[in-house]
Amino acid sequence: MKKRMLALLFAVSVLTATGQVGGGIAGPAPRARAEMARHSLVFFDTFDTVVTIIGYAEDKATFDRVAGEARAAFERYHQLYDAYHVYEGIQNICTLNRDAAQTPVPVDEELWDLLVFAMEWQPRLEGTVNIALGSVTGLWQASRKAADAGEPASLLPDTDALREAAAHTHVNDVVLDEERRTVFFRDPSLKLDVGAVAKGFATELVCRQMLASDMPSFMINAGGNVRAGHGPAAGRSLWGVGLQDPEAALSAGADQSMDVLYVEGLSVVTSGDYHRFFVEGGVRYHHIIDPATLLPAWQNHSVTILCEDGGLADILSTAVFILPYERGRALVDSLDGVEALWVRAGEAEGEARMTEGMRAYSKNAGAVNPER
Ligand code: AMP
Ligand code: MG
Repeated sequence: MKKRMLALLFAVSVLTATGQVGGGIAGPAPRARAEMARHSLVFFDTFDTVVTIIGYAEDKATFDRVAGEARAAFERYHQLYDAYHVYEGIQNICTLNRDAAQTPVPVDEELWDLLVFAMEWQPRLEGTVNIALGSVTGLWQASRKAADAGEPASLLPDTDALREAAAHTHVNDVVLDEERRTVFFRDPSLKLDVGAVAKGFATELVCRQMLASDMPSFMINAGGNVRAGHGPAAGRSLWGVGLQDPEAALSAGADQSMDVLYVEGLSVVTSGDYHRFFVEGGVRYHHIIDPATLLPAWQNHSVTILCEDGGLADILSTAVFILPYERGRALVDSLDGVEALWVRAGEAEGEARMTEGMRAYSKNAGAVNPER
């Protein structure tokens, strides 16, 4: 848990440091832009993670208003996509998992949209991401919780229990009624887990809200789900997004930076095996489960996806993380406007790879962040 927080804080600090590079320096920018100042807001109470919002606004009041509205939106999406808590007057993943096998449950638009988005993409992801995998991921989560609580041995989920749970993960048993906007589970043991996509989907919704505001120059980092609006309004032209070295992330104090991507108007989302894990018998069991084996996926240490849409970046980062490099690469290459960066595991332990198009953004590959 502590390690995870450290990792998240690191991601934030790199962003902040990079964002500050030219903070407050008036370059040859148009007059109105040169008067912009950089502000930031950090909060810890949504999506079980740290959310940082950095923005350039004409005055602090503008930043406070726009960032405050963004935070309120994060709070709303957190409640809608929460699988663990019930909130008064709200149908969310938790109430669906409780009630949707008994009766069709009407849901709000943003929850509906998330489910439709995930279910539309899922068939293209080669059996990797499955939002109906909740019965299986729930067993792994219970093990992780027990380990975090310091409970004694035999932490791994029982193989038979995993197999039994896997029989209740057919996404076709999630029935969406478009007319009534209701959700019904045909299988009473099915549970939804939207953890692979919800944070990125929510970040994208918040981003669109902010792009339409009077502070379109911003950067959101929701626990590694990064979404950049227009570039910084002073100093450098682009936002620098620090990528964590998966191995260094496991040891506090090490230099954790692996690369920096320079972006604007894009999402950068990473899935990794170095946070949300427990160790049993010397083996690290992390939170991304390969439905083919019902075990944590082992082909990569991290996969970073760069594309415009944050929901797509999030669902793809999990999918490509689960796939072997060649198949993940083929999937990414088949999609327009999507780039990826891998740190591989297994036979190619530690090997870093990136798509050709990623090189234009990567500091390691020679990309620079020009002064405004
Ligand atoms: P991410 O960090 O975006 O890669 O998402 C990982 C989260 O997605 C986990 O914490 C689980 O809640 C959930 N998850 C894990 N494996 C899968 C899977 N194969 N399909 C769908 N969701 C998954
Ligand atoms: Mg994801």
